[in-house]
Amino acid sequence: MFLPATPEELRTLGWAGLDVILVTGDSYIDSPFVGVSLIGHWLVQAGYRVGVISQPDLDSSADIGRLGEPALFWGVTGGCIDSLIANRTAAGKRRREDDYTAGGINCRRPDRAVIAYANLIRHHFKATAPIVLGGVEASLRRIAHYDAWSNRVRRSVLIDAKADLLVYGMGERTVLELAERLRDRLPVTEVRGVCYAATEPKPGTVELASYTAAAGDPAAFREMFLAFARNQDPLTGQGLSQRQDTRWLIHNPPQLPLTEPEMDAVYGMDFERALHPRDRRRGPARAVETIRFAIPTHRGCYGECSFCAIAVHEGRTVSSRSEESILHEAELIAGLPDFKGYILDVGGPTANMYGFECAKKLRRGACLDRRCLYPSVCESLRPDHDRQRRLLAKLRRTPGVKQAIVASGIRPDLVLADRKQGIPYLRDVVRHHTSGQMKIAPEHSEERVLRCMGKPSRESLLPFCEHFRRLTAEAGKEQFLTYYLIAAHPGCTEADMEQLRRFAARDLSIRPEQVQLFTPAPSTLATLMYHTERDPFSGRPLFVEKTAAGRERQKNILVAKAGRFRYEMAVSHQTQKEVRPWARTKTSRKKPRRNLPKR
Ligand code: SF4
Repeated sequence: MFLPATPEELRTLGWAGLDVILVTGDSYIDSPFVGVSLIGHWLVQAGYRVGVISQPDLDSSADIGRLGEPALFWGVTGGCIDSLIANRTAAGKRRREDDYTAGGINCRRPDRAVIAYANLIRHHFKATAPIVLGGVEASLRRIAHYDAWSNRVRRSVLIDAKADLLVYGMGERTVLELAERLRDRLPVTEVRGVCYAATEPKPGTVELASYTAAAGDPAAFREMFLAFARNQDPLTGQGLSQRQDTRWLIHNPPQLPLTEPEMDAVYGMDFERALHPRDRRRGPARAVETIRFAIPTHRGCYGECSFCAIAVHEGRTVSSRSEESILHEAELIAGLPDFKGYILDVGGPTANMYGFECAKKLRRGACLDRRCLYPSVCESLRPDHDRQRRLLAKLRRTPGVKQAIVASGIRPDLVLADRKQGIPYLRDVVRHHTSGQMKIAPEHSEERVLRCMGKPSRESLLPFCEHFRRLTAEAGKEQFLTYYLIAAHPGCTEADMEQLRRFAARDLSIRPEQVQLFTPAPSTLATLMYHTERDPFSGRPLFVEKTAAGRERQKNILVAKAGRFRYEMAVSHQTQKEVRPWARTKTSRKKPRRNLPKR
């Protein structure tokens, strides 16, 4: 069932009014991959009446007013992608196409969408229900943050939007608690995963450098960001207070990750897996093609690549669904009338993080003094692909499913670190679950740049490539590795790009056709480097290419001097990986599609 988006649908349901209205910068796609849809159905399942307004017109009350006013709160999100990343290229140009907008033209989501929509609500409804910001844009901009598009440090988006509350991270548990407390007229200031504004700092919290200090001094910004990052674990993170002009931003500790039964309950809800009919009138939304027949298996990522925002939004703890829940979803998909037998992705932020986590992290919280995968896989993690192998084997036997493709990226270092099941897992994927290309993300080849990125050395890449080629040959298939590479990452020089080009030609035998220009997404470690031009840990100066011409030159070194190599390619992905690694994009659609299943 779609959540109601029109007055007629409210009447059909017999609802006289709504408890919660969700406003989004995307068209309304009802899917387990879309936050508005997950949160809306989750609240409905708990007994609340929830409606959706997608991409409202900013110049009138026609859209924002069509469902009336909610009794409990407005939930406002920019959509599945931060609105500036969705609307602008890394070079700052306006994107023309939009996979999350019906009709495919990028003309309906404003820049800084959560601020625009909060203002729209305030303009048309005086003394209305609380405005609660959520989704990735609110998460990434929840404290003072460097904003590359305006080239300055901005206040929390909660303050700029004049909203009442901000829910960060994965919101299911938080919004239920909020709805209950607002319904019962209880204070909400102790709810985990919430930010709010106050007149004074909250006792017992860590006081961050003020917005004014952070905006005026890169050293204070660095100190602020590192204190923020140290307090993002759900078990050990403390509350934070940050002065923002005349008020204080209070950042409560992160929400606890969902348990497996809770994950199953969330993803077991009834989704239409389609674009709402009201939006469909403007045409199809391309994201639907990708996610209609895809299954999310887990959320969270402990890869912590410096440029990626997944850990900031989804957290560093991986929460997985049970095999039964995933198989049930596969059966549902197999029963859809237009299903041709191919599940287009079984995965998450990183496909092979499904089904295992560090026992120490789950008991006592993530380490603050080291990363789980950098410089090498932590011994305490004990990667184990057994559960994923069993899941994939059962998917192969699901009636109606010809192939379940693992299209999400695979971490080579995790495969190699799992001495027992790693190569058998790779063999399974190569034989049965690859559509012709397997995505991996070395991002670069040079040690100094990889250190800035938090990516493992090339030494873990080459053996993986060898295994892939050997297993592909054994399977008698023609299929390829697809490499994600980034130019102009902080710390990367033109000489580094020359080395990468040589490495790609000599060791990978690839001809890069597209390379992602680094995008400074808010609240990532790489963006801290970009803004401060310093190594975040040592404080030593760091080369950062900021000029448009220099960034373009770095990219062109790789793509313009490409050699005569025959089959593999590199594509861009950073923007998508930040928020929805499985979302197909303009660039990925242009990839040559070899060895794809026949439809
Ligand atoms: S012990 Fe290792 S795997 Fe576990 S949280 Fe710490 S760094 Fe990560």
